[in-house]
Amino acid sequence: LLVIGFFGHLWWRRSRPAAPGDDDPALIADLRDAIAGGRLDFMLQPKLDLRSGRWVGAELLVRWNHPQRGPLAPDEFVPMAEQARVIGTMNLHLLRCGLQQRRQWPQAEPPLHLSVNVSANDLADAQLVDDIIDACGQAGTGLMLEVTETDVMREPERVAEALPRLREHGIRIAVDDFGAGHSSLVNLRRLAPDELKIDKSFVASLLNSRSDQAIVTAIVGLAHELGATVAAEGIEDEATQRWLADAGCDVGQGFGIARPMTAGEFTALLVAQQAANNSAQGGPEQQS
Ligand code: C2E
Ligand code: MG
Ligand code: MG
Ligand code: MG
Repeated sequence: LLVIGFFGHLWWRRSRPAAPGDDDPALIADLRDAIAGGRLDFMLQPKLDLRSGRWVGAELLVRWNHPQRGPLAPDEFVPMAEQARVIGTMNLHLLRCGLQQRRQWPQAEPPLHLSVNVSANDLADAQLVDDIIDACGQAGTGLMLEVTETDVMREPERVAEALPRLREHGIRIAVDDFGAGHSSLVNLRRLAPDELKIDKSFVASLLNSRSDQAIVTAIVGLAHELGATVAAEGIEDEATQRWLADAGCDVGQGFGIARPMTAGEFTALLVAQQAANNSAQGGPEQQS
């Protein structure tokens, strides 16, 4: 048994795919190059108003197609970018690209927002906050920054300090993956986030889990009491979407609503929808 165990262990070690980043300086160097050369790509995943059925915005999700290793998932290389301290540069670059795309979107009332994932460290960096504000120009009201609950609660004071300046410029803050980290309610009150995003682990088996339902209901209540909207991520089917809408969840996101798509596809979708709405209303010129 010992022998089998030993060889089994060796086999396991050899067959385990190397997690990118651990002990992989070459990959980190490639990532630095890709960031500096603007070769990272992104997708946009639409966010839906669960009551009106209208798009309210989209979340920017980074993608990296490595020339030799092929497409890598953000969960694989975002931690690397954090380790190598290039995450701030990466996020700022993506934010600029995303905002540029947002300028192509048709006008809507209220305007659609772009959600961008940033790290708490980014917000603790005064220079980077300046750069984010500069990047927005007049488009500030259209930007929402997502910070994960785990991340934000690591340095709540420094994040809280950055918020007034961002808010002055109409930039909103969402707490991402909410429920999966440890929030102190005192810190949550101090941050006064604009949106809580319920972690997808509570959404995945929502219909079969009374405890997930209780947690989601509680988060919806908490968010609304704090004056925040509440979004659910990871919605994969219509029944879950309906349950969340009935529970008072404001915004939904997930493969069952729309998959992440290219920026071009997202703009085309908005244009098509606006055309459909206009013709449903008898055309914009016949309205008055
Ligand atoms: P997140 O911000 O919570 O983003 C949601 C993730 O859930 C995305 O994965 C999205 O593709 C995935 N997702 C969306 N709908 C569904 C669904 O219905 N079912 C399931 N199972 N998954 C769904 P992705 O793109 O792999 O990103 C993973 C994480 O990487 C993100 O989680 C975010 O924390 C981080 N990330 C992504 N883009 C960026 C970025 O530009 N900057 C930074 N700092 N982090 C990023
Ligand atoms: Mg996010
Ligand atoms: Mg999330
Ligand atoms: Mg996540």
